[in-house]
Amino acid sequence: MHATPADRSDLRADCSQCFALCCVALPFAASADFAIGKDAGTPCPNLRDDFRCGVHTELRTRGFSGCTVYDCFGAGQKVSRITFGGRDWRAGDPEHRRRMFDVFPVMRQLHELLWYLTEALTLPAARPVHADLRRMLEGTERLTLQTSEELGQLDVHGHRRRVNVLLLRTSELVRAGAGRRKKDHRGADLIGARLKGADLRGASLRGAYLIAADLTGADLRGADMIGADLRDANLTEADLTGAIFLTQPQINAARGSAGTRLPASVTRPGHWTAHV
Ligand code: SF4
Repeated sequence: MHATPADRSDLRADCSQCFALCCVALPFAASADFAIGKDAGTPCPNLRDDFRCGVHTELRTRGFSGCTVYDCFGAGQKVSRITFGGRDWRAGDPEHRRRMFDVFPVMRQLHELLWYLTEALTLPAARPVHADLRRMLEGTERLTLQTSEELGQLDVHGHRRRVNVLLLRTSELVRAGAGRRKKDHRGADLIGARLKGADLRGASLRGAYLIAADLTGADLRGADMIGADLRDANLTEADLTGAIFLTQPQINAARGSAGTRLPASVTRPGHWTAHV
């Protein structure tokens, strides 16, 4: 059963139903985001036997801010409970582990696409493509229910390209509906850009590099944010009301304040106001 347009609850991480796949399957390198490095398929040393993080409440102060940014869009619980029927990676042989860890990033991509498609179906301006969006949503949901062998062979990048055609059309319809001449910053290099107070209403920021950009007080209402890299971007007092295709990991990676206005689909990260 997939999420309805109004309810994306099964597209949000539920760590209580997951075998900590992100803490095992994914690699990370020692950096400003991770205090240590580890290989893919190796459990993080902070992972406890009950699949919970031993430093969960201190991640940022201990140098694991990268963990607070990550979100699996509900892929972890899908792989743990549906694809592998509740059989965890500790219980299986090396082949079982390998398949589980291979499937997880594929499922994450599919769930991220479900997130966008589900959102697109809530947008009235996208009504001309709602039937196509619904078919694509159902098709993507069916892919997530395949066996681990089928998921392992899936051309997820090809599927992503097909979905993207529809998402692009959705973006055009939504932004055209706002009746303004729209700025196109698709894939733009805006690293460290000074965009304080900028009027970016209805802009396309698809895949734009906004790392450490100053977007303080910027007006981003109705902007297309899909794939924009917001790491360390300053969103203090910015207005993202009605911004489309914004995800929790993007917001988690940015800086902001109690005054940042966000779409209802994402939540204000605790670290924005915790001064950590
Ligand atoms: S520090 Fe905690 S959340 Fe991060 S990978 Fe390790 S166990 Fe998982």
